[in-house]
Amino acid sequence: MVTQAQILQWLQAFASEIEQNKTYLTELDAAIGDADHGINMDRGFKKAIAQLPNVADKDIGSILKTVSMTLISSIGGASGPLYGTLFLRASAVVVLKQELTEKDMLELLQAGLDGVLQRGKAQLGDKTMVDVLSPAVAAFRQAVEENQSTVEAMQQAVVAAQKALEETIPMQAKKGRASYLGERSVGHQDPGGTSAYLMLKSLLGVLES
Ligand code: ADP
Ligand code: MG
Ligand code: MG
Repeated sequence: MVTQAQILQWLQAFASEIEQNKTYLTELDAAIGDADHGINMDRGFKKAIAQLPNVADKDIGSILKTVSMTLISSIGGASGPLYGTLFLRASAVVVLKQELTEKDMLELLQAGLDGVLQRGKAQLGDKTMVDVLSPAVAAFRQAVEENQSTVEAMQQAVVAAQKALEETIPMQAKKGRASYLGERSVGHQDPGGTSAYLMLKSLLGVLES
């Protein structure tokens, strides 16, 4: 089971992971974008975290929805609406829940990914966060279907995400700003894929603690 308290811890952990990697994420975006991904994410998640005391005693759906609204209204660029949609769709499948089973977690992750896919219309191989999220959710699904626990499934998801993140390096971007570079986008790790990896890694960290 993943508790409401662990969801709050995850959001805090992700926000601090973003803060610690703000320069790194921005440098990755400097290579193939406009050098603001770390800045965008840090601004958005700092604002989202500031809202958490207002929802500290609410259900998981309300918490995730609050995060999504803050992200949509405060992160500029592509990543704001995409992460906002991810959290909004995730919130909708866990409405009124105070704890999440393995199956609930799978639904949450799948709904978040589906939201990003519908909003951004990226395909696998387009060098976006989808290239990290999609294999991670698939690994999580497989582990749950094999009756593994949420922690074990998340371990598999993070392993898959890390591998998938490295695999964004040789890709040529087909969506977002990096696509304007054409072949010059090859040879660089995707910034949004990197933040997506950090999101999953911080969730695993909370589940393992
Ligand atoms: P912007 O490119 O508007 O400055 P950010 O730098 O914050 O926004 O985010 C860039 C990241 O957003 C990319 O690295 C990529 O992972 C992700 N991204 C861009 N477009 C899409 C899309 N259509 N679908 C999914 N992810 C996308
Ligand atoms: Mg950018
Ligand atoms: Mg920008």
